[in-house]
Amino acid sequence: MNHAFSALENSKAANSYTQDESSSAKDKLLKDELAEIIHQAVRDNCSYLMEHETKEILEGIGIATTGFLVARSEDEALVLSEKIGFPVVLKIVSPDIVHKTDAGGVKLNLTCIEDVRIAYNEILETFKYQHIEGVTIQKMAKPGIEAIIGVTRDPSFGPLIMFGLGGVFVEVLRDVSFRILPITEKDASEMIAEIRGAAILEGYRGQAVDLESLGQLLLKISQLVVENHEIRELDLNPLFLYPDGYVTVDARMFVSEPSPRDNITPTGHESLRDFFYPKSIAVIGASDIKGKLGYNVFWNLINHDFPGRLYPINPGKDSIKGIKAYKSILDVQEPVDMAIIIVPAKAVEAAIADCCAKGVKYVVVEAAGFAESGEEGKQAQERIEKIIHENGCRVLGPNCSGVINTHHNMVQSIGLLGDLKKGNVGMVAQAGVYAAGILTGLSNVLDFGIVATIGNKVDINETDILEYLSDDDHISVIVMYMEDIRSGKRFMDVASRTAVRKPVIILKSGRTEAGKKAVSSHTASLAGNDEINSAAFKQSGIIRARDNEHLFALTRAFSKQPVPKNNGVLVITYTGSLGVAATDMLSLSDMRLSTLEPYFQKRLKNVLPDYASIGNPIDCSFSMTPQQVKDLIEIGVESNDVHSFIVIIQGEILSSFVDVMKNIDYKEKPVVCCVACKEFMIDDVVKMEQSGIPVYSTAEMAAEVLSEMYHYSVRRQSAIADSIARHLTKDSLSVDNMPVRLRLINPKDIGLWTDFVNGCSQKSLWLRFLSPFSATPERAQRFCNLNPEEEIAVVAEMKDGDKYKFLGIARLIKNKRCEGEAEYAIIISDLWQNKSLGHILSEQCFELAKKEGYKTIRAETLQENYAMIRIFRQCDFILDSKDENMVSMALKLS
Ligand code: ADP
Ligand code: MG
Repeated sequence: MNHAFSALENSKAANSYTQDESSSAKDKLLKDELAEIIHQAVRDNCSYLMEHETKEILEGIGIATTGFLVARSEDEALVLSEKIGFPVVLKIVSPDIVHKTDAGGVKLNLTCIEDVRIAYNEILETFKYQHIEGVTIQKMAKPGIEAIIGVTRDPSFGPLIMFGLGGVFVEVLRDVSFRILPITEKDASEMIAEIRGAAILEGYRGQAVDLESLGQLLLKISQLVVENHEIRELDLNPLFLYPDGYVTVDARMFVSEPSPRDNITPTGHESLRDFFYPKSIAVIGASDIKGKLGYNVFWNLINHDFPGRLYPINPGKDSIKGIKAYKSILDVQEPVDMAIIIVPAKAVEAAIADCCAKGVKYVVVEAAGFAESGEEGKQAQERIEKIIHENGCRVLGPNCSGVINTHHNMVQSIGLLGDLKKGNVGMVAQAGVYAAGILTGLSNVLDFGIVATIGNKVDINETDILEYLSDDDHISVIVMYMEDIRSGKRFMDVASRTAVRKPVIILKSGRTEAGKKAVSSHTASLAGNDEINSAAFKQSGIIRARDNEHLFALTRAFSKQPVPKNNGVLVITYTGSLGVAATDMLSLSDMRLSTLEPYFQKRLKNVLPDYASIGNPIDCSFSMTPQQVKDLIEIGVESNDVHSFIVIIQGEILSSFVDVMKNIDYKEKPVVCCVACKEFMIDDVVKMEQSGIPVYSTAEMAAEVLSEMYHYSVRRQSAIADSIARHLTKDSLSVDNMPVRLRLINPKDIGLWTDFVNGCSQKSLWLRFLSPFSATPERAQRFCNLNPEEEIAVVAEMKDGDKYKFLGIARLIKNKRCEGEAEYAIIISDLWQNKSLGHILSEQCFELAKKEGYKTIRAETLQENYAMIRIFRQCDFILDSKDENMVSMALKLS
């Protein structure tokens, strides 16, 4: 439903990530008195809060600690120990000592006064040459599972949180997970589940950890740090986790003057539409000498039939390729939308200045020799930056290979490129050479819409392009090849809004330390820390590819095939062993084999040889024919549990499958092929790819790709449902003076839905479904598991003890044949009929439909359904048509 999307577009809150940081002081987590500890430290230029100070702050926001009482004399230490109760722990309190144990400043498990006395004097003796403020006395915590929570700030992404298990898990295995702040409840539980040691938390010798309170703790830390910009780093290390809670054993905080708000450049620029669809282009440095880059760029524009005016700029020529040339862009009389600069680096500055003087809005600097090439280049780049800031023009590059937009017949590349078909893939690549290198090969099997190479990103960066691609209707899949990501916060904001509209697949190089070095020497950019990138991608719903092959395996599928609506897969194979490989990978990636209904098994039997066993994977053996596969798929598309297909084909007979498979009606269910060793039979593979079916050389890759697509569609649908839910009224409603809550139905409601249907009389069910109706598991699935782009159901529910129960359900079903129209149906449980609930629920649904952009609501009901007809009349429906049984009514939403 495009309607649902319009809601997403405008909703910055599509992702938790964009939530407002500047909550008003009154609902801040940390009270002013405690915040003052931090302010004071910053004012005193003291960068570090000691354990007891940090714990005081943590306790202040409801985080449990082992305590923070400070003793400044032996006597005080003894009194406090008795007060707290043995066993106790003594720790040094000194602003100079960060790691207390290393220095001998922690004395554990002191069980009596005498122990405390000895420990106190040992600490004093050990630190006699240091500044000591005293010792903390705290309760000795009972043993638990050691964990660590940390916060630090990244220059690009801002504050981030880390979670891991303590001891060797952190020190040796580096088993930790990261998220960018702020986090949601979902982020918190995912980051806990993500560490390799998660099994230990979930149940270790029957001792599970209280995951609920751990999740809440992460959320509290998130809020604390987001609201208090002076907190630079925070460590809860260790933290003991128990089956019934946790306790913070040690904590420290680093504070500083808040840095200028972490790179949150608002997305305030106007759309880059004209940048991707310019009406005229000047090429500064156009040449007619073969082999020169200025020749290639100009040749590409002409040979791909750029539809607008071209102005070659070259002081030594009257015309180039038959087109009038100019000495300077300032000599061109007409307005120029865009200039491409492909001249030696030292001439670029003057060329940009000319463009600015001419009033050119967009400049693409393909020339190299800037920040990527040493100190001098860096300075030249800074000078360019200054010019463009003063003049307000927008610049791509330098050191890039321009833009390709096949939908505008515009190719600005430095390398000569042959024919390109118009496609739906948008690509952002940092390095122009990379893009050029893969484009020719890929264009055999993948059609691009827009390819933008961004180079040194003096102005226009990956996020600007991503934001534009998100809006361009020609583009339905976005691929990014990135070396570094600037302004991580804005990137996440844009990416999370884009990812719910179109799949965004990213290959981020610079994963390892070695890779990072290669990157910086290449484009003068420092790749961020990889864990941080991974966290940011996950949080924004971006799919991260492992390598180039994986990147384009995913892209081909997303570009050519619909996404699976559910996770059941039918595998058709000529060999059992590759069927097993597919099966294994499906189950590893949260997918499953479809269950074949008995009716389909019977039909399958008719298609297969007698000796073949009927099961999934379907093993057709070596005699598999195209017709057989066609028959199997045509049976499969009818099954309610088959939502996608993997077809494993012998390479040597692949070509005979191409036409047959191309012409099957898959009924919006995706299909992918596996051809082992496909790289050695590439001609037929290319044919199959061109027919719209992706081919992979391993069954694992085929399975993995379907899994990524399915999980993408789940994320997208849940984002759409969230956005619709935000449009649903939050006011508390009451019926019969009882509070009633409205919300969208979701897949977890199967139990409630079943109870509801079982509680309705046959008559009510008949009036709603026009036939006898009962709650079967399949129907429960069908009615609770909705694609919000096609159908939404609003339930009215009421608290019943500590649970909820449904009182009524209303549905809006998009009319696929008629844009802007939805069908409406409603059922109210018998006990709640004739109490105004039907009316209230309907009105709320129509309000919602209006917000979702619907223009007309239609409803049909039996003539004898007087109650329903009365509700529709009350809601201003007008009679559409009537026969002896049925009434059709319509409501125009204005
Ligand atoms: P530091 O990290 O500065 O060396 P800690 O306060 O973390 O010092 O203490 C070191 C170790 O001693 C902790 O990792 C923990 O295992 C143990 N420990 C510290 N305080 C307590 C306590 N109150 N109860 C139980 N164990 C403690
Ligand atoms: Mg510690």
